[in-house]
Amino acid sequence: MSCFEHKSNVEMEPRAPLKTPADRKNGKHVKANDIPPQGVYLPNNNFMAPHMISPEYVQLSNAAAITLGIMGGRMYRTECTRCLNLLLTYPEGCRANCAYCGLARHREADRDYADRNFIRVDWPAVPMAEIVDIVAKDPDSSPFHRMCISMITHPRSEDDTFTVLRQWTDKIDPEVIPVSILSNPTTMTRADVQKTKDLGADIFTVALDAATPEVFDRTRGKGVQSPHKWSKYWDIMLEAKDIFGPQKFGAHIIVGMGETESDVLHLVQELVDLGGHSHMFCFFPEQGSLMDHLPATPRDQWRRVQLARYLIDYRDVRVEQMTFDEEGRVKTYGIPDAELADIIDAGIAFRTSGCPGKFQDDISACDRPYGDSPPSDIASYPFQPGKKDLRKIRKQLDIPVRIE
Ligand code: SF4
Repeated sequence: MSCFEHKSNVEMEPRAPLKTPADRKNGKHVKANDIPPQGVYLPNNNFMAPHMISPEYVQLSNAAAITLGIMGGRMYRTECTRCLNLLLTYPEGCRANCAYCGLARHREADRDYADRNFIRVDWPAVPMAEIVDIVAKDPDSSPFHRMCISMITHPRSEDDTFTVLRQWTDKIDPEVIPVSILSNPTTMTRADVQKTKDLGADIFTVALDAATPEVFDRTRGKGVQSPHKWSKYWDIMLEAKDIFGPQKFGAHIIVGMGETESDVLHLVQELVDLGGHSHMFCFFPEQGSLMDHLPATPRDQWRRVQLARYLIDYRDVRVEQMTFDEEGRVKTYGIPDAELADIIDAGIAFRTSGCPGKFQDDISACDRPYGDSPPSDIASYPFQPGKKDLRKIRKQLDIPVRIE
């Protein structure tokens, strides 16, 4: 038996969503108030403002709020984030129920949308005009290398994305701070994808999240009473390929939800063959989600996938050159050891992956500090790993010794 067994689909089973009491469905409890929103809303203020909605309001990551100067606070070993991540917001929240997500619909039973944690952090709500005003003062010297609008599943999501995007590009040259769209394809058409391009978006990604159709169905489709379909996500991704062109589209993938390393790396190769990129997260049991009782992805599994994905995405290594063991784990990476050692030592492979910033193509603007791990056991490094970090990474990369 192995001491680091890959967790199978069965072992990574989400718990079933419970029934939401009628008085909390669709944000009813928040909408029962009529308090006007007042400036910045910090999560857990418990100030129920039903009119705090997109496009006038957006939520932004803790890291972006600190970088923008809207919120105080410090981040472990990093001064700022290079990506201004925005999230559309409504009192009734996202209408999907993805099992790993802190924003999922089932949470309306016990937590208002504006107060929900998402990828491990809080997301303050801020008037969009205030954000644009701050950045538009001096876009050339802005710490942000990119802005990203995350869509959620909501009937207004497309129209409000267009408005937020227009509001940005009216005042900020997208050549200076380019915009990415992290899409929710379920409610989208080709014309919607085209419109984001026409309004100045630079990169269009699809939050595929699951690496196989089975994992997708189980974690964000029928398995948890959620409306998403794998085929629709692919349809919209292929539209984006067509409309945005090579290197300007891609997919988000979460590693460690029951797929094998081989599964996820074949998907990475498929995306590269189409001309796109993969942006990866390490699964972390988000508090309050339907998978909060499950283990985070073992670090050895994550490091192997991170390294192999980097080789496929940026070093022209193909998945067919790699070898896998009987559990689908990476055994060899398809390049000489000395070359592999250099790539490990460069450390970039272990940084957060995402849309590029202004440093270089393989360094993501989107560094999502501690979005997929606590600072005490970093999965995606939001900064350049130092010597000590690399020693730890090297240890984690080892394929574990089998105990028979
Ligand atoms: S669609 Fe996105 S925001 Fe909504 S529950 Fe799923 S992962 Fe979360």
